[in-house]
Amino acid sequence: MRLFAAWAVCLLLGWPGLLGCQRQPALFKPAADPGETIYFVPVREKVVALTFDDGPNEPATGLILDALKRHQVKATFFLIGANVERYPETARRIKAEGHLIGNHTARHSMFDQSSAFAIAQDIADGQRAIETVTGVTPLWFRPPYGIKGPGMEEACRAQGMAIAGWSADANDWNPHSVEELVDSIVSQATPGDILLLHDGCETRHGADRQNTVAAVSLILEKLKAQGFRFVTVPDLLRAAGRPLAEFKNGARLLGLQIPAQPLPPGGGFWVRYFWDVPPGGDNLTPEAFVHYTTPDGSMQFQDNHEIPRLGDVRDRVLKHLVIVPRKAPLGRYQVRFGLFDPQTPEWRHRVPVRSAFRQQRRAVIIPDVLDVNQAAKP
Ligand SMILES: [Zn+2]
Repeated sequence: MRLFAAWAVCLLLGWPGLLGCQRQPALFKPAADPGETIYFVPVREKVVALTFDDGPNEPATGLILDALKRHQVKATFFLIGANVERYPETARRIKAEGHLIGNHTARHSMFDQSSAFAIAQDIADGQRAIETVTGVTPLWFRPPYGIKGPGMEEACRAQGMAIAGWSADANDWNPHSVEELVDSIVSQATPGDILLLHDGCETRHGADRQNTVAAVSLILEKLKAQGFRFVTVPDLLRAAGRPLAEFKNGARLLGLQIPAQPLPPGGGFWVRYFWDVPPGGDNLTPEAFVHYTTPDGSMQFQDNHEIPRLGDVRDRVLKHLVIVPRKAPLGRYQVRFGLFDPQTPEWRHRVPVRSAFRQQRRAVIIPDVLDVNQAAKP
């Protein structure tokens, strides 16, 4: 309460520097515009969107629907027109059971090998097939393989569809054991994630998805036990809160994930950053930084990473390997994020940031998120 009062006074007086208070970043969009890509949403509660591509495909889709019903979970299905025509009853069942239906083209073509005309047609044909069979006009589209092709956004805009990327997947289109699939999704899941699984395989008839089917129930059980709730992609947006930080050049840090488990000195880990780069983001960035500091504030190790230019849907999630130096002191480390000014990528020119978190030297500090511990397994 006292914090809030101080913040309100700062806001009234327009002194953002006073008493270390910061302006809060604006709320993230609660809905997506046609042609806009969403792949991660900053949320405060433990909520994720489970999505399935390449269906309908029996018996996999039906078994997944059974599991979702048992767990009272609503998911998002990106259907392929050709598969909808093959399994119309399943497509209608997806709708009847309250799941969201998205368009995943009619033929699952490779957009990087297609003309703008062919892409627009594959999208429109998919839309028509889904409408004819289910009566649903999809408002969400996901490109095959996450590949963005010429004119794709314009074609989606013309159909009134936003584009759904994803922020975590299990690569279940490759052969993996059930255990690997479950571990992969459960270890990655962060509030706000759009999780990708496959109930089919492109337009293949009778594609074997039994491992994914078996994994779905276990993923639901494990994430529910951790307190996660499952919603559709648009409902995830409706739950949106504030980004972690908002930079003066328009880029926003929506979220980040580093391991919850302690790490030993010399150990490495994958950090995932979720950035929202505004349209025309090509002249932004190209580099952001993350510093890990001990509680006394001395810098211990750091890592710079590129923010993706607006390219494929696949490239929007940054995964970056960070190594903890062998001589790093044990303890609880803070993480500090910032962004280079694209013109002058030096420490003193780092882009100013607005954030609800503590700030220092044009960076935002996200406290107490990494434990370096000798007892941890390498
Ligand atoms: Zn696909």
